[in-house]
Amino acid sequence: MASVTLEVGELNLIEDEQLRFWVRELAARDGSPDVEVKISHPAGRVRCEECGMEGRALLPGGEMGHLLPPVVACEACGSRNVRIEGGRELRVVSAEIEMEGHSGDNT
Ligand SMILES: [Zn+2]
Repeated sequence: MASVTLEVGELNLIEDEQLRFWVRELAARDGSPDVEVKISHPAGRVRCEECGMEGRALLPGGEMGHLLPPVVACEACGSRNVRIEGGRELRVVSAEIEMEGHSGDNT
């Protein structure tokens, strides 16, 4: 079975189900509808320009975060003057696709 491993930072506004759907669509086009999609979520990391705190990004948007661009704030002082240093990754870590015409079962 084909498998694809993705790394999607938690500050990306992409839902797992959406990603899985697209990967499967693409794989099906290549003749491998059975693709296992593994997704990991590196945490958002920020550096505060006000107090110098480095740490995890807070997402004050809560549930609304799905609808709005991510607004991040400093965990220590609440400032929104922060630089995002992690959590926006979107990459394919590995992709194993079986080649067609190798199964021998064509009935
Ligand atoms: Zn701060």
